[in-house]
Amino acid sequence: MNSLLLLLAVPLPPQSLEAIGPLIEERQVETRYGPVGPLARRGLPETPSVWIQPYYGLPSRTDPRATLQAAQQLHVSQIVACDSVVAVNPVLGPGHPLLITDYIDFTRHQPQTFYENEGTGGLSQTPAVCPRLTDALSHILPMAPGGVYLGVDGPRRETAAEARMFRSWGADVIGQNLVPEIALARELGLCFAGLGIVEDISAERSTPTAQADDSRGLEAVVLALSELSHSLDPNTPCNCGGRIDPGQADGPGSAESRPARQPRQ
Ligand SMILES: [Zn+2]
Repeated sequence: MNSLLLLLAVPLPPQSLEAIGPLIEERQVETRYGPVGPLARRGLPETPSVWIQPYYGLPSRTDPRATLQAAQQLHVSQIVACDSVVAVNPVLGPGHPLLITDYIDFTRHQPQTFYENEGTGGLSQTPAVCPRLTDALSHILPMAPGGVYLGVDGPRRETAAEARMFRSWGADVIGQNLVPEIALARELGLCFAGLGIVEDISAERSTPTAQADDSRGLEAVVLALSELSHSLDPNTPCNCGGRIDPGQADGPGSAESRPARQPRQ
């Protein structure tokens, strides 16, 4: 059965995950790129279960390809990643949630593809994020604007000059945990949606005095993730990756999450 994976790079208290459902199992997954986990599976008896992976992007983090390959091995078809972000758009302040509609890759030290030595000529152009999953989140989180996420390696913060440059490029927020995962997920034909929670404002803006709303965005996102997990049907095929085989797209375990070419195992 296909399922949903939540990659959580935000400081959620573990008890907040109870809203998704009780813990069913924990599993470590071995991949070609290293071990992943333990991932926790939670869910209510009458709803599809959800895999959850805490996901803080540090230079020492697991090879991001391992995470995506583990998702594939767990028969995940949809991923929602939630990241703590720095706002470069002046309308965003600490605690604000943001739906990621597109991204800019400014990482320089991350593996960018499963097809390292093969070129990418065979990959088709797909939307940056899954429109259906993003649309579902926008209905649950109507207060969250859409925005462009700019991925950096970290761990250092942006300089003021970089923040001005990123804003001039059209970025709304900066983060360290969704790129290249978002591209790797799309290579595997997995639906991917991203949520940001503004943790701080960028270096070229002055620090706001009031931070009273800080936790409200996080609480809204926790509720949204649990609502999403209870309302989604991961077995309904989505063709956003452009990889559905029309002859096999109408049942569980069909080809919708299979890439045109399998990455090397
Ligand atoms: Zn999709």
